[in-house]
Amino acid sequence: MNKKCTKYEGLFIFADDATLQRHLKECPECRAEHEKMQKVSKLLQEVKPVYVQKHKQTAQIKIACAVCAMLLSGTVLGLINFNTDISDTIKYGTTLSAEDLGLPVDSYGLILVE
Ligand SMILES: [Zn+2]
Repeated sequence: MNKKCTKYEGLFIFADDATLQRHLKECPECRAEHEKMQKVSKLLQEVKPVYVQKHKQTAQIKIACAVCAMLLSGTVLGLINFNTDISDTIKYGTTLSAEDLGLPVDSYGLILVE
């Protein structure tokens, strides 16, 4: 009965390179397995630059979106902060006049100076 060698995975992961090479020389099954792994490794090396490129583009798009969001929210918040009519409308539902603020006003709603 021909038993299949199961050492390859264990040696590949846990043993040092010299031990793996020694076993590969004496075991044809593991040698075939190792050749398959080398092919996969070569394929991965070929495909790697494409994935790196894609990853870089995705990162650049994310940075651009973050910058746009910061600029937009900064502009909107700055506008609300410095334009008191907008912030009054948001807080109280209407713009506040000098009378609403408790200042002395004349019949035109202008601040009265005595
Ligand atoms: Zn083997």
